[in-house]
Amino acid sequence: MLRTILIAAAALGIAVFGGFWWLFLADSKAPEAAPGLFAIGDWRSRLPDDPSALPTEIRVLEIGRDKAPGFAARAGGFDSDWNTTYNAVQIVWPGRTMIVDGAIDAATAEGMKQSEADWSFDAAAYDTLLAAMLKAEQVVITHEHLDHVIALARHPDPAALGPRLTLNAPQIGALPLFAIGALDPAIASLAPRLDGDVQSIAPGVVIIPAAGHTPGSQLVFIRTQDGRETLLIGDVAWSLDAVETLTTRPVLTQYMIFDPDEDRASVKAQLRALHDLMAANPDLAVIPAHDGDHIRALIEEGRLIEGFRD
Ligand SMILES: [Zn+2]
Ligand SMILES: [Zn+2]
Repeated sequence: MLRTILIAAAALGIAVFGGFWWLFLADSKAPEAAPGLFAIGDWRSRLPDDPSALPTEIRVLEIGRDKAPGFAARAGGFDSDWNTTYNAVQIVWPGRTMIVDGAIDAATAEGMKQSEADWSFDAAAYDTLLAAMLKAEQVVITHEHLDHVIALARHPDPAALGPRLTLNAPQIGALPLFAIGALDPAIASLAPRLDGDVQSIAPGVVIIPAAGHTPGSQLVFIRTQDGRETLLIGDVAWSLDAVETLTTRPVLTQYMIFDPDEDRASVKAQLRALHDLMAANPDLAVIPAHDGDHIRALIEEGRLIEGFRD
């Protein structure tokens, strides 16, 4: 009898340990190499020769914030917090602007709340974003997830917004999921303006397709007039330490959050490529969309400017 109990206890222990390992740690490490995946030389070749054509500023507007355990963003990150930010980026040239990402509205922010104490939503900032989109020459998104598209899918003036949207086919295909009621035809009937290849969309801004986190995920590479280079990576990683430690989100996050699932193999290869890109280009600012601490540090360094320009 005792032997049976001990065997059962051992089996239970192995099952619990195995389940923990699989949900929190397994299948999270980037491969040894991802040659040729992100070719910064190609991106640079698409920049204008005349530096005065480049943008002058990159601005970030925080719409909301929250806090979650670090292990949600990086497998094994049990000893850290993840200070999440929901934001949009404004790229500024003399006389024109571009917006990257559409953040969340109040209802979405409330629905995604993780921490009662650390959660907040800025309704005035969301209104600023809606207005800034209509002043922008183009509006792009890093990918077609809830927390990046709401200001597009629920914009109060879709007829004015539609002509400004520079999207790829998977992004357009996903927008109806996030509208309240039917998506306005001015947006639903848009044709893709991004062709799935590396593409310059304005002087100093290059789009790099990076399917994996979602089919329509992409990076946004920017060089400003001061010669600095910035790479917006959307949600390829949720925190920069995921790139630095070559470790993606745990399987648990994948099953709890994403529908459809991520392509983990692609995301892990992208982490490796980003890691190596950062090592070879230490002045490149790589920005995960939700890494609140990193974005705060870049604002303090003067690499990003807080708030949008009118
Ligand atoms: Zn996101
Ligand atoms: Zn996402």
